[in-house]
Order: sequence, then C-alpha cells, then structure tokens
Amino acid sequence: HRLFLKRKSRLASALFMEVPVGIPIDPEGRPYKFPAKEHCSKCGLCETSYVARVKEACAFLEPGMSRIDTLETKVHGRRRKTTDDKTIVQADERRFGVQYQPLRLARGISMPGAQWTGVVSSIAISMLETRQVDAVACVASNEETWSNPNPILAQTTDEVLKGRGVKPSLAPSLNILDEVKNDPSIRRLLFCGVGCSVQALRSIENELGIEIFILGTNCVDNSPSPGAAAAFIEKGAKVFSDSVRGYEFMQDFRVHVKTEETYLTIPYFCLPGTIAESSIAKSCRSCFDYTNALADVVVGYMAAPLDGKSRMDESWQTVTVRNERGNQMVETAITQGRLEVGDIVRGSGDHQQLAIATTKSDALVQAMVGGKVQENGMPLWLGNIMATVLRKVSAKGIAFARYSIDYHIVRNYFHVLNEWGEHRARSSTPQFALEIVDEYLEMDSTLKGYAAK
Ligand code: FAD
Ligand code: SF4
Ligand code: SF4
Repeated sequence: HRLFLKRKSRLASALFMEVPVGIPIDPEGRPYKFPAKEHCSKCGLCETSYVARVKEACAFLEPGMSRIDTLETKVHGRRRKTTDDKTIVQADERRFGVQYQPLRLARGISMPGAQWTGVVSSIAISMLETRQVDAVACVASNEETWSNPNPILAQTTDEVLKGRGVKPSLAPSLNILDEVKNDPSIRRLLFCGVGCSVQALRSIENELGIEIFILGTNCVDNSPSPGAAAAFIEKGAKVFSDSVRGYEFMQDFRVHVKTEETYLTIPYFCLPGTIAESSIAKSCRSCFDYTNALADVVVGYMAAPLDGKSRMDESWQTVTVRNERGNQMVETAITQGRLEVGDIVRGSGDHQQLAIATTKSDALVQAMVGGKVQENGMPLWLGNIMATVLRKVSAKGIAFARYSIDYHIVRNYFHVLNEWGEHRARSSTPQFALEIVDEYLEMDSTLKGYAAK
C-alpha cells in the first residue's frame, strides 16, 4: 500500500512539476539522480519546480557553460572583448569578463566574522536596508556545524549576517526558488551565488517574474561535501577540522586557515597530491566560470595585493562591476558607509610560464595522463622556501589572477576532454576559454601531447 502511495505521489509530483521525461524523481518530487550525474554541482535548481527547465539551465548539460557566450549579451548588453594585450597591467575582459568599469579594490567596514572583510555581506545588507530589495538569498550554516551550507532567504540584517563566511562545499543556493515564487511580498530579490548557480538562475529568471540583482563571488575547486572539506583540512593541512572556521588558497602560494584559536598558513607544495581527487568536486573540474560571468557585480580576492603578513580578514578584496545594476549595488554600500573602495587593480610578472608549470605538475592532470601522483607533499621548511621565493619573483596582483584563471581553464579542459571526448568538450566550453586553451597547447608541446592522449 505504501509503495503504491509512493508511486502515486511521484506521478503527481511529476505532473505538477512538469519534470522532463526520463528524469527519475523521489516522492518529494526531487530527482533521485540529478541529470548532470557525477558532474552535478548541486546548485539547487533540481530541488525545485524549476527542474522542468533543467535542460536549458544546467551548466553541466550540453551546451553547458558555452551558454555564457550568448547569455552575456542578454544580461550585460554585450559580450566580453577577447583581445589579449600581454602588456596591459589591468584586468582583461577575456579572463575577467564584461567590465562596466575597471576592477577596483574593496574592503567591508566593521564586518567581523566575514570570510574576508565582508564586502559581500556589506553590499547585501545595504541593498536590503535601503529597501531596494525585499529579500537576500544567501548561504548560511546549518545548526550542526559552520561548514554545512544552508541556503536561506534573508529578510532582515541579522539574517543576512548568517551568510558571513564561506562554507567550503557545494551549496544548493537555488533551492529557495519555490519559496520566492510563493511569497508575494518578494518582488525584488538579491541573489548571492557562485558561477554555476548564477548561470542556471539567468537561464530561468524571466519565469520568476520578479526583479533580480546578482551579487556573485569568484569560485574555483569547491569540495563535493562538507565531509570531503573536513577530510582535506585534516589530512592536507593537518588541522583538526572542528576548530576550523574558514580557509582559502591564497595569492602567496599558501592555504590560510582560520581556526577558533589561531591563524595558520601552509604552503600549497606541502599538501599531498593524492588529496585533490577526493577534495575537488567533478563539477568544479568541468567549470569555466571562475570569475562569474553573468553576475551584476563580482567579489573575489585573487587579483588583490597581499602583504606577506596579511590575514584574509584584514586584506583588500576586488569588485568587478559588470553593468549599471552592479554599479548601483556598490554605490549603495559606499553611500551607506559599509564599503570602502580603493585603486584600480594592477599586476606584475609573467603568468603563462607559471600556469604551464602548475598544470604539468598538477595531480589531477598527472592522474589523467598516467603520470605519478605524489603521495606526500614537500617538507614544511622546503615548502616555505618555495612559497617565499615564488611570491617574490613571480606573478602578482592581476598577473597572479591571470595565472590562476589560465591554469584552471587548461586543467579543466583536460578533464572534460577525458570525460566527454573532443566534440562535447569543445561545444561545452565558452569561446574565451577555448581560445586560452588553444594558445597554451600551441605554446607548450607537452601540454599538446596531453590533449592528444
Ligand atoms: P562574506 O561577507 O563573508 O559573505 C560570504 C558570502 O558567501 C555569503 O553571501 C554566502 O552566501 C556566500 N557563500 C558561503 N558559502 C558558500 C558556498 N558554499 N557556495 C556559494 N556561496 C557561498 N575568490 C577568489 O578570488 N578565488 C577563489 O578561488 C575563490 N573561491 C571561492 C570558492 C567558494 C566556494 C566561494 C563561495 C567563494 C570563493 N571565492 C574565491 C570568493 C571569496 O572566498 C570570498 O567569498 C569573497 O571574497 C567574499 O568574501 P567576503 O568577506 O566579502 O564574504
Ligand atoms: Fe540540476 Fe543544478 Fe545539478 Fe544541473 S547542477 S543537475 S541544474 S542541481
Ligand atoms: Fe560551481 Fe564552478 Fe564554483 Fe564548482 S567551481 S561550485 S562548478 S562555480
């Protein structure tokens, strides 16, 4: 009898939610297996009635992230310029996306408990307090632990504050969409999110029938689950995960870890190579949207300067304003006294040779091409010397960001090539990323050899 009811309710849900034929759903109407399967970034769309639009919206179903090529014009009024003048010291649109104004430094004012200085929370709160939006969709923590992402619809300043801090794993940010649809008091929504969820939201935003402001963050190499993030921090950084309150892979070639008692830095080179496989979600290995192309404004850190002694929660971040709406959001936070902005961001140093070297020594790439993956990282003393020397002589500011973007694009291209074959890999990769990949393959014969394997 129970089984019959279950099946009946599944059928009712399917009819009600117009789930596309062929997607198995559970009794609550959620897909048993999300359509993008192991490449699903759990963006939350498939946990709502908008699952009916998954084929048009999912960043990991063909044509995947190449949708950015057309959506950019729809959202910002034009596509990014793809010329790459190697002599420029400012952020190029090819890598950083459409810019309404050049990248600037930014710092939140009086926002303790944020991941960095709370630029994101400052903008979100300012928009809510000036009543330009009725609610903010952000990712709080669940009650058990700070690192378990729990998307919420915040309607007060205190609720927005619950979103402070990055929860280091895939978050179903869009699972609040039915709540938004069913609440007539929400006519203007501010959505905080990473590139894959923003892409899905942009694809269905017209159906919501409300005004949407998108406050994005840069994002790369997210963990598949809070458990995987905890395992990374315990095995890789050798820190007891219960005491950790946040971590970042920083511009000084070190992982910075905030714990309840202290602040630690561990050189990248000391992490065991074998940890990458379990701590980076497959979605993030097939992602080409590090800089969140379709958000109105984007906050990140990789292009910001960093003094060797700086902590993440004291340093500058960057803001990329992509359109007039993004400008309105940043100006509101400045006027409200919640945000300080600094100079245009510049850089120095060569990004390409560093990107080539990092890609060649990457554990995921080596595993794909049948190379040797190092079980143990370098000893701490050697890792510290490496990080210090590299920091002194290599890419800084914008050049560091270019290095990081290029390395992830090339590494991820190898992943999609390996998983999906050349035809799907090329048709699912945005044009700007394909151009970058082709340049590196042309520049380095070893990388070209990897692509041919
Ligand atoms: P806060 O004011 O503390 O606000 C944090 C915001 O992050 C909140 O709005 C919350 O909704 C959101 N958030 C928290 N956890 C998640 C999650 N799991 N998924 C989606 N949203 C979440 N910047 C870089 O330059 N390079 C990177 O490689 C990079 N990786 C990132 C990876 C992830 C998963 C995320 C969420 C962000 C990443 N960022 C990266 C951005 C950077 O870490 C900071 O989020 C950003 O600079 C904002 O800091 P803040 O102090 O202004 O944020
Ligand atoms: Fe659905 Fe989002 Fe997963 Fe795609 S990434 S399958 S849209 S939950
Ligand atoms: Fe989504 Fe890409 Fe971030 Fe992974 S790296 S969570 S796929 S935006």
